[in-house]
Amino acid sequence: MSGSCFLSSRGNEYFCEIDEDYLTDRFNLTGLNTEVQYYQYALDLVTDVFDMEVDDDMREHIEKSARHLYGLVHARYIVTTRGLAKMLEKFKNGVFGKCPRVICESQHLLPMGQHDIPNMSNVKLYCAKCEDIYNPKSSRHNSIDGAYFGTSFQNILFQIYPAMLPQKTQRRYEPRIYGFRVHASGALMRWQEEKREEMKDRLKARGIETGFEDEDDEDLDDESDIDEEQASQEGIDDMFEGNAQRVR
Ligand SMILES: [Zn+2]
Repeated sequence: MSGSCFLSSRGNEYFCEIDEDYLTDRFNLTGLNTEVQYYQYALDLVTDVFDMEVDDDMREHIEKSARHLYGLVHARYIVTTRGLAKMLEKFKNGVFGKCPRVICESQHLLPMGQHDIPNMSNVKLYCAKCEDIYNPKSSRHNSIDGAYFGTSFQNILFQIYPAMLPQKTQRRYEPRIYGFRVHASGALMRWQEEKREEMKDRLKARGIETGFEDEDDEDLDDESDIDEEQASQEGIDDMFEGNAQRVR
């Protein structure tokens, strides 16, 4: 199992190929010898120089260690210039999938960890548009350790390639029942929107870019909505108070 052989096996699409130069530079592997069992054998396997005769059991142990070692080095490699460029290509090609949220309009995702320490949590997918994280759809991807990507990679990538950051959107799904806004969540949403406008005004006053797309045009019909909204709200109140039945 060499590095490239490891990558070609199913479920490993999230990983990029680590340069041989990087893998053979001991400095890049600092501290990993205590983290990985059969470290030297695992390293030999990853760098394709393993040539010892071992039984199947031992072979399996060493291969498992090699996969772990590759993952841990991968987390370090993908924040280097070369590694970032490779992961960016995968991101552009949609290798990590698309955001399942309808309003994110198939925004491409990036893999990330919630922990930098292995065996804590599995890899998650980050959407830069809604700034939320998702579980991978396939169980093969779902079992990958999040530490093989780390907690900083996705943020570093957007810092190095800011043009890749999507415009954020304020749009979101509004719960409605037969066209009427649902009362409790509607009230919460109005409150949240108010707070967000306040925040944007404060940021604007200080000359800070909010990163939200300018959606004022789309909001215009919101103002004309107010009457309709109030009317529909009264309609709902009527329904709950039983007034609706009184209408002749
Ligand atoms: Zn999203």
